Amino acid sequence: MKQIPYGRQNITDEDIQSVVKVLKSDLLTQGPKIAEFEKAFTEYIGVKYAVAVSNGTAALHLCALALGVKEGDKVITTPITFSATANCVRYAGGDVVFADIDPNTYLLDINEVEKLLAASPKGTYKGIIPVDFAGRAVDLEAFRKLADKYGCWIIEDTCHAPGGYFTDSKGIKHKCGSGDFAELAIFSFHPVKHIAIGEGGMITTNNEELYHKLRMLRTHGIQQRTELIKNNNSDPWYYELQELGFNYRLTDVLAALGISQLKRAKEGLKRRIEIAEKYNNIFKNKPYIKRHSGIISGHAYHLYVIESEKRKELYEYLRTKNIYAQVHYIPLHLMPYYSQYGWKLGDFPNAENYYKHCLSIPMFPTLTDVQQNYVINTINDFFTV
Ligand SMILES: *Cc1c(COP(=O)(O)O)cnc(C)c1O
Repeated sequence: MKQIPYGRQNITDEDIQSVVKVLKSDLLTQGPKIAEFEKAFTEYIGVKYAVAVSNGTAALHLCALALGVKEGDKVITTPITFSATANCVRYAGGDVVFADIDPNTYLLDINEVEKLLAASPKGTYKGIIPVDFAGRAVDLEAFRKLADKYGCWIIEDTCHAPGGYFTDSKGIKHKCGSGDFAELAIFSFHPVKHIAIGEGGMITTNNEELYHKLRMLRTHGIQQRTELIKNNNSDPWYYELQELGFNYRLTDVLAALGISQLKRAKEGLKRRIEIAEKYNNIFKNKPYIKRHSGIISGHAYHLYVIESEKRKELYEYLRTKNIYAQVHYIPLHLMPYYSQYGWKLGDFPNAENYYKHCLSIPMFPTLTDVQQNYVINTINDFFTV
Protein backbone atom coordinates (compact mmCIF):
# COMPACT_ATOMS: atom_id res chain seq x y z
CA MET A 1 0.00 0.00 0.00
CA LYS A 2 1.43 3.39 -0.87
CA GLN A 3 1.66 6.03 1.80
CA ILE A 4 -1.64 7.18 3.34
CA PRO A 5 -1.50 10.54 5.13
CA TYR A 6 -4.04 11.70 7.75
CA GLY A 7 -5.34 14.31 5.35
CA ARG A 8 -4.69 15.46 1.83
CA GLN A 9 -5.91 17.75 -0.91
CA ASN A 10 -7.68 16.79 -4.10
CA ILE A 11 -6.77 18.83 -7.17
CA THR A 12 -8.73 17.99 -10.32
CA ASP A 13 -8.08 18.87 -13.98
CA GLU A 14 -10.88 21.39 -13.72
CA ASP A 15 -9.07 23.05 -10.79
CA ILE A 16 -5.89 23.22 -12.84
CA GLN A 17 -7.66 24.69 -15.85
CA SER A 18 -9.21 27.42 -13.71
CA VAL A 19 -5.74 28.40 -12.50
CA VAL A 20 -4.23 28.31 -15.99
CA LYS A 21 -6.96 30.63 -17.22
CA VAL A 22 -6.05 33.29 -14.66
CA LEU A 23 -2.33 32.87 -15.38
CA LYS A 24 -3.06 33.76 -19.00
CA SER A 25 -5.20 36.77 -18.04
CA ASP A 26 -4.13 40.36 -17.32
CA LEU A 27 -4.51 40.33 -13.55
CA LEU A 28 -2.71 37.92 -11.27
CA THR A 29 -3.57 39.64 -8.02
CA GLN A 30 -6.58 41.75 -7.06
CA GLY A 31 -8.45 40.77 -10.19
CA PRO A 32 -12.09 39.72 -10.49
CA LYS A 33 -11.59 36.25 -9.01
CA ILE A 34 -11.13 37.51 -5.45
CA ALA A 35 -14.58 39.10 -5.34
CA GLU A 36 -16.06 36.09 -7.10
CA PHE A 37 -14.53 33.71 -4.54
CA GLU A 38 -15.72 35.88 -1.66
CA LYS A 39 -19.25 35.96 -3.04
CA ALA A 40 -19.36 32.20 -3.64
CA PHE A 41 -18.05 31.68 -0.12
CA THR A 42 -20.73 33.88 1.49
CA GLU A 43 -23.33 31.80 -0.35
CA TYR A 44 -21.82 28.52 0.82
CA ILE A 45 -21.72 29.63 4.44
CA GLY A 46 -24.84 31.77 4.50
CA VAL A 47 -23.20 34.97 5.73
CA LYS A 48 -23.27 38.58 4.52
CA TYR A 49 -19.59 39.37 4.02
CA ALA A 50 -16.38 37.51 3.31
CA VAL A 51 -12.83 38.84 3.08
CA ALA A 52 -10.24 36.63 1.36
CA VAL A 53 -6.73 36.79 2.80
CA SER A 54 -3.34 35.17 2.30
CA ASN A 55 -3.78 32.42 4.93
CA GLY A 56 -5.73 31.47 8.05
CA THR A 57 -3.11 32.97 10.35
CA ALA A 58 -3.36 36.34 8.57
CA ALA A 59 -7.14 36.05 8.95
CA LEU A 60 -6.75 35.63 12.71
CA HIS A 61 -4.27 38.51 12.92
CA LEU A 62 -6.61 40.87 11.05
CA CYS A 63 -9.54 39.83 13.24
CA ALA A 64 -7.56 40.65 16.38
CA LEU A 65 -6.64 44.04 14.92
CA ALA A 66 -10.14 44.82 13.68
CA LEU A 67 -11.54 44.09 17.14
CA GLY A 68 -8.96 46.41 18.64
CA VAL A 69 -6.85 43.97 20.64
CA LYS A 70 -4.04 45.91 22.24
CA GLU A 71 -1.28 45.50 24.77
CA GLY A 72 -2.47 43.85 27.96
CA ASP A 73 -5.90 42.79 26.62
CA LYS A 74 -6.83 39.33 27.84
CA VAL A 75 -8.37 36.84 25.40
CA ILE A 76 -9.53 33.31 26.23
CA THR A 77 -8.95 30.28 24.01
CA THR A 78 -8.42 26.51 24.07
CA PRO A 79 -5.04 24.80 24.44
CA ILE A 80 -6.10 22.09 21.95
CA THR A 81 -5.74 24.00 18.71
CA PHE A 82 -3.16 25.05 16.16
CA SER A 83 -0.70 27.66 17.44
CA ALA A 84 -2.05 30.45 15.25
CA THR A 85 -5.36 30.57 17.16
CA ALA A 86 -3.56 31.88 20.23
CA ASN A 87 -0.67 33.64 18.48
CA CYS A 88 -2.97 36.18 16.84
CA VAL A 89 -3.67 37.66 20.27
CA ARG A 90 0.08 38.03 20.85
CA TYR A 91 0.62 39.64 17.43
CA ALA A 92 -1.67 42.43 18.57
CA GLY A 93 0.04 42.68 21.98
CA GLY A 94 -2.68 40.96 23.99
CA ASP A 95 -2.35 38.18 26.58
CA VAL A 96 -3.56 34.65 25.93
CA VAL A 97 -5.52 33.00 28.72
CA PHE A 98 -6.19 29.31 28.22
CA ALA A 99 -9.17 27.39 29.57
CA ASP A 100 -9.55 23.60 29.63
CA ILE A 101 -11.47 21.51 27.13
CA ASP A 102 -14.61 19.47 27.71
CA PRO A 103 -13.32 15.88 27.68
CA ASN A 104 -16.44 14.67 25.87
CA THR A 105 -16.33 17.08 22.93
CA TYR A 106 -12.65 18.16 22.99
CA LEU A 107 -13.95 21.72 22.59
CA LEU A 108 -13.27 24.73 24.79
CA ASP A 109 -15.31 24.10 27.95
CA ILE A 110 -17.80 26.91 28.39
CA ASN A 111 -18.01 26.26 32.13
CA GLU A 112 -14.27 26.80 32.49
CA VAL A 113 -14.57 30.01 30.49
CA GLU A 114 -17.40 31.19 32.71
CA LYS A 115 -15.32 30.46 35.83
CA LEU A 116 -12.59 32.73 34.50
CA LEU A 117 -14.99 35.50 33.53
CA ALA A 118 -16.85 35.37 36.84
CA ALA A 119 -13.63 35.50 38.87
CA SER A 120 -12.55 38.92 37.54
CA PRO A 121 -14.19 42.33 37.26
CA LYS A 122 -16.23 42.77 34.07
CA GLY A 123 -14.04 44.11 31.29
CA THR A 124 -10.97 42.11 32.32
CA TYR A 125 -11.41 39.80 29.33
CA LYS A 126 -11.98 41.33 25.91
CA GLY A 127 -12.76 38.28 23.84
CA ILE A 128 -13.11 34.53 23.40
CA ILE A 129 -11.78 32.43 20.52
CA PRO A 130 -13.57 29.07 20.45
CA VAL A 131 -12.39 26.53 17.87
CA ASP A 132 -14.60 24.09 15.98
CA PHE A 133 -11.95 21.50 16.69
CA ALA A 134 -11.74 18.47 14.36
CA GLY A 135 -14.84 19.83 12.59
CA ARG A 136 -17.20 19.70 15.55
CA ALA A 137 -19.19 22.91 15.83
CA VAL A 138 -19.07 24.90 19.03
CA ASP A 139 -22.42 25.89 20.60
CA LEU A 140 -22.07 29.57 19.80
CA GLU A 141 -25.52 30.43 21.12
CA ALA A 142 -24.29 29.57 24.61
CA PHE A 143 -20.98 31.37 24.09
CA ARG A 144 -22.82 34.47 22.82
CA LYS A 145 -24.92 34.62 25.98
CA LEU A 146 -21.82 34.41 28.11
CA ALA A 147 -19.89 36.89 25.98
CA ASP A 148 -22.73 39.43 26.20
CA LYS A 149 -22.92 39.07 29.95
CA TYR A 150 -19.23 39.92 30.27
CA GLY A 151 -18.83 42.33 27.35
CA CYS A 152 -16.64 40.08 25.20
CA TRP A 153 -16.40 39.62 21.47
CA ILE A 154 -16.11 36.20 19.79
CA ILE A 155 -13.85 35.07 16.95
CA GLU A 156 -14.88 31.60 15.78
CA ASP A 157 -11.84 29.69 14.51
CA THR A 158 -13.62 27.41 12.10
CA CYS A 159 -10.66 26.26 10.00
CA HIS A 160 -11.78 22.68 10.62
CA ALA A 161 -15.46 23.10 9.91
CA PRO A 162 -16.52 24.69 6.61
CA GLY A 163 -20.00 23.26 6.00
CA GLY A 164 -20.39 22.19 9.64
CA TYR A 165 -23.18 23.51 11.86
CA PHE A 166 -24.67 23.40 15.33
CA THR A 167 -28.32 23.29 16.31
CA ASP A 168 -29.50 26.00 18.72
CA SER A 169 -31.99 25.76 21.59
CA LYS A 170 -34.89 26.42 19.19
CA GLY A 171 -33.81 23.66 16.83
CA ILE A 172 -32.41 26.06 14.23
CA LYS A 173 -29.20 25.08 12.45
CA HIS A 174 -26.39 27.63 12.28
CA LYS A 175 -23.52 27.00 9.92
CA CYS A 176 -19.99 27.50 11.19
CA GLY A 177 -18.86 30.97 10.20
CA SER A 178 -22.44 32.20 9.62
CA GLY A 179 -21.88 35.19 11.88
CA ASP A 180 -25.21 34.55 13.63
CA PHE A 181 -23.50 34.66 17.02
CA ALA A 182 -19.80 35.47 16.58
CA GLU A 183 -18.52 38.87 15.44
CA LEU A 184 -16.00 37.23 13.12
CA ALA A 185 -15.08 33.76 11.89
CA ILE A 186 -12.00 32.54 10.09
CA PHE A 187 -11.19 29.74 7.65
CA SER A 188 -7.96 28.32 6.20
CA PHE A 189 -7.35 26.85 2.75
CA HIS A 190 -4.17 25.01 3.66
CA PRO A 191 -3.89 21.71 1.73
CA VAL A 192 -5.04 19.53 4.64
CA LYS A 193 -8.22 21.59 5.10
CA HIS A 194 -11.52 20.98 3.28
CA ILE A 195 -10.90 23.61 0.62
CA ALA A 196 -7.27 23.45 -0.50
CA ILE A 197 -5.50 26.16 -2.45
CA GLY A 198 -1.95 26.02 -1.05
CA GLU A 199 -2.06 29.07 1.18
CA GLY A 200 -5.21 31.07 1.72
CA GLY A 201 -7.79 32.13 4.25
CA MET A 202 -11.18 33.78 4.65
CA ILE A 203 -12.88 35.93 7.26
CA THR A 204 -16.66 35.98 7.44
CA THR A 205 -18.94 38.42 9.26
CA ASN A 206 -22.36 40.05 9.21
CA ASN A 207 -20.93 43.28 10.59
CA GLU A 208 -20.54 45.90 7.85
CA GLU A 209 -18.20 48.12 9.83
CA LEU A 210 -15.82 45.26 10.62
CA TYR A 211 -16.03 44.15 7.00
CA HIS A 212 -14.76 47.51 5.69
CA LYS A 213 -12.10 47.66 8.36
CA LEU A 214 -10.83 44.19 7.48
CA ARG A 215 -10.66 45.06 3.78
CA MET A 216 -8.61 48.11 4.61
CA LEU A 217 -6.26 46.25 6.98
CA ARG A 218 -5.72 43.54 4.35
CA THR A 219 -4.30 46.15 1.98
CA HIS A 220 -1.76 48.03 4.15
CA GLY A 221 -4.45 50.03 5.93
CA ILE A 222 -5.25 51.91 2.75
CA GLN A 223 -8.80 53.16 2.26
CA GLN A 224 -10.03 53.54 -1.32
CA ARG A 225 -13.78 53.85 -0.87
CA THR A 226 -14.65 57.50 -1.45
CA GLU A 227 -17.40 57.47 1.17
CA LEU A 228 -14.90 56.34 3.81
CA ILE A 229 -12.15 58.85 3.00
CA LYS A 230 -11.39 61.11 5.99
CA ASN A 231 -9.58 64.07 4.42
CA ASN A 232 -11.50 66.45 2.25
CA ASN A 233 -10.00 65.41 -1.06
CA SER A 234 -11.69 64.39 -4.28
CA ASP A 235 -8.62 63.97 -6.52
CA PRO A 236 -9.34 61.03 -8.80
CA TRP A 237 -6.13 59.20 -7.78
CA TYR A 238 -6.55 59.89 -4.08
CA TYR A 239 -6.38 57.11 -1.52
CA GLU A 240 -5.71 57.24 2.16
CA LEU A 241 -3.51 55.35 4.60
CA GLN A 242 -5.76 55.35 7.65
CA GLU A 243 -4.24 52.63 9.82
CA LEU A 244 -1.16 50.45 9.97
CA GLY A 245 -2.23 47.42 7.98
CA PHE A 246 -0.51 44.62 6.10
CA ASN A 247 -0.30 43.08 2.68
CA TYR A 248 -2.43 40.03 3.45
CA ARG A 249 -4.13 39.76 0.08
CA LEU A 250 -4.93 36.52 -1.67
CA THR A 251 -3.93 36.32 -5.34
CA ASP A 252 -6.43 36.01 -8.17
CA VAL A 253 -4.67 32.80 -9.22
CA LEU A 254 -5.45 31.13 -5.90
CA ALA A 255 -8.94 32.64 -5.71
CA ALA A 256 -9.72 30.86 -8.99
CA LEU A 257 -8.57 27.60 -7.46
CA GLY A 258 -10.72 28.37 -4.43
CA ILE A 259 -13.83 28.91 -6.58
CA SER A 260 -13.22 25.61 -8.31
CA GLN A 261 -12.60 23.76 -5.04
CA LEU A 262 -15.64 25.30 -3.39
CA LYS A 263 -17.85 23.68 -6.03
CA ARG A 264 -16.87 20.30 -4.62
CA ALA A 265 -17.01 21.25 -0.93
CA LYS A 266 -20.45 19.73 -0.29
CA GLU A 267 -19.54 16.51 -2.00
CA GLY A 268 -16.26 16.32 -0.03
CA LEU A 269 -18.08 16.87 3.25
CA LYS A 270 -20.55 14.11 2.40
CA ARG A 271 -17.69 11.71 1.76
CA ARG A 272 -15.99 12.69 5.04
CA ILE A 273 -19.18 11.85 6.93
CA GLU A 274 -19.39 8.51 5.13
CA ILE A 275 -15.81 7.69 6.13
CA ALA A 276 -16.55 8.71 9.73
CA GLU A 277 -19.63 6.48 9.82
CA LYS A 278 -17.61 3.50 8.74
CA TYR A 279 -14.89 4.12 11.33
CA ASN A 280 -17.58 4.60 13.98
CA ASN A 281 -19.28 1.33 13.15
CA ILE A 282 -16.08 -0.67 13.11
CA PHE A 283 -14.55 0.78 16.26
CA LYS A 284 -17.81 0.93 18.21
CA ASN A 285 -17.28 -2.34 20.05
CA LYS A 286 -13.51 -2.35 20.27
CA PRO A 287 -12.27 -2.27 23.84
CA TYR A 288 -9.00 -0.67 22.78
CA ILE A 289 -10.62 2.52 21.58
CA LYS A 290 -11.12 4.61 24.69
CA ARG A 291 -14.08 6.58 23.51
CA HIS A 292 -16.88 5.84 21.11
CA SER A 293 -19.12 8.35 19.50
CA GLY A 294 -21.94 8.04 17.08
CA ILE A 295 -22.20 10.40 14.16
CA ILE A 296 -22.49 13.90 15.55
CA SER A 297 -24.85 16.06 13.51
CA GLY A 298 -23.18 19.08 12.00
CA HIS A 299 -19.67 17.65 12.46
CA ALA A 300 -17.51 18.49 9.45
CA TYR A 301 -14.95 15.72 10.13
CA HIS A 302 -11.77 17.57 9.32
CA LEU A 303 -10.11 15.02 11.63
CA TYR A 304 -11.13 11.60 12.82
CA VAL A 305 -9.59 11.18 16.26
CA ILE A 306 -9.27 7.90 18.13
CA GLU A 307 -7.92 7.61 21.65
CA SER A 308 -5.76 4.74 22.80
CA GLU A 309 -3.65 3.87 25.83
CA LYS A 310 -0.97 2.65 23.43
CA ARG A 311 -1.02 5.73 21.23
CA LYS A 312 2.75 5.99 20.68
CA GLU A 313 3.16 2.30 19.81
CA LEU A 314 0.18 2.53 17.47
CA TYR A 315 1.56 5.67 15.83
CA GLU A 316 4.88 3.94 15.21
CA TYR A 317 3.31 0.69 14.04
CA LEU A 318 1.12 2.53 11.56
CA ARG A 319 4.20 4.28 10.12
CA THR A 320 5.84 0.93 9.46
CA LYS A 321 2.67 0.09 7.50
CA ASN A 322 2.81 3.36 5.56
CA ILE A 323 -0.10 4.97 7.41
CA TYR A 324 0.85 8.45 8.54
CA ALA A 325 -1.50 9.19 11.42
CA GLN A 326 -0.90 12.44 13.28
CA VAL A 327 -1.36 13.98 16.72
CA HIS A 328 -3.59 17.07 16.99
CA TYR A 329 -2.53 18.92 19.04
CA ILE A 330 0.27 19.17 21.55
CA PRO A 331 -1.40 21.42 24.16
CA LEU A 332 -0.38 25.00 23.50
CA HIS A 333 0.09 25.90 27.16
CA LEU A 334 2.97 23.38 27.33
CA MET A 335 4.88 24.95 24.43
CA PRO A 336 8.02 26.83 25.54
CA TYR A 337 6.65 30.02 24.00
CA TYR A 338 3.57 29.93 26.22
CA SER A 339 5.12 28.31 29.29
CA GLN A 340 7.36 31.40 29.57
CA TYR A 341 4.16 33.19 30.64
CA GLY A 342 3.70 30.75 33.53
CA TRP A 343 1.50 28.03 32.01
CA LYS A 344 2.57 24.56 33.11
CA LEU A 345 1.81 20.86 33.19
CA GLY A 346 -1.19 20.23 35.41
CA ASP A 347 -2.99 23.45 34.47
CA PHE A 348 -5.48 21.73 32.14
CA PRO A 349 -5.98 18.05 33.04
CA ASN A 350 -8.58 17.37 30.34
CA ALA A 351 -6.44 18.79 27.55
CA GLU A 352 -3.36 16.98 28.85
CA ASN A 353 -5.21 13.68 29.21
CA TYR A 354 -6.66 14.01 25.73
CA TYR A 355 -3.20 14.71 24.32
CA LYS A 356 -1.81 11.54 25.94
CA HIS A 357 -4.14 9.33 23.93
CA CYS A 358 -5.26 11.09 20.77
CA LEU A 359 -4.41 10.05 17.23
CA SER A 360 -5.89 11.43 14.01
CA ILE A 361 -6.27 8.59 11.52
CA PRO A 362 -6.66 9.10 7.75
CA MET A 363 -9.68 11.25 6.88
CA PHE A 364 -10.00 12.93 3.49
CA PRO A 365 -12.59 12.68 0.70
CA THR A 366 -10.38 10.78 -1.77
CA LEU A 367 -9.53 8.07 0.77
CA THR A 368 -10.73 4.96 -1.08
CA ASP A 369 -12.68 2.09 0.47
CA VAL A 370 -9.68 -0.14 -0.12
CA GLN A 371 -7.43 2.31 1.71
CA GLN A 372 -9.88 2.76 4.58
CA ASN A 373 -10.24 -1.02 4.98
CA TYR A 374 -6.47 -1.27 5.04
CA VAL A 375 -6.29 1.40 7.78
CA ILE A 376 -8.99 -0.37 9.81
CA ASN A 377 -7.40 -3.81 9.43
CA THR A 378 -3.96 -2.49 10.30
CA ILE A 379 -5.28 -0.88 13.49
CA ASN A 380 -7.13 -4.08 14.42
CA ASP A 381 -4.00 -6.14 13.72
CA PHE A 382 -1.94 -3.95 16.00
CA PHE A 383 -4.23 -4.65 18.91
CA THR A 384 -4.76 -8.36 18.29
CA VAL A 385 -1.17 -9.53 17.73
C1 LIG B 1 -4.87 25.60 9.81
C2 LIG B 1 -5.32 26.30 11.01
C3 LIG B 1 -5.02 27.65 11.25
C4 LIG B 1 -4.05 28.46 10.42
O1 LIG B 1 -4.31 28.46 9.08
P1 LIG B 1 -3.11 28.73 8.02
O2 LIG B 1 -3.87 28.93 6.74
O3 LIG B 1 -2.27 27.50 8.00
O4 LIG B 1 -2.38 29.93 8.44
C5 LIG B 1 -5.57 28.25 12.37
N1 LIG B 1 -6.37 27.58 13.21
C6 LIG B 1 -6.66 26.27 13.03
C7 LIG B 1 -7.56 25.59 14.00
C8 LIG B 1 -6.13 25.59 11.93
O5 LIG B 1 -6.41 24.30 11.77
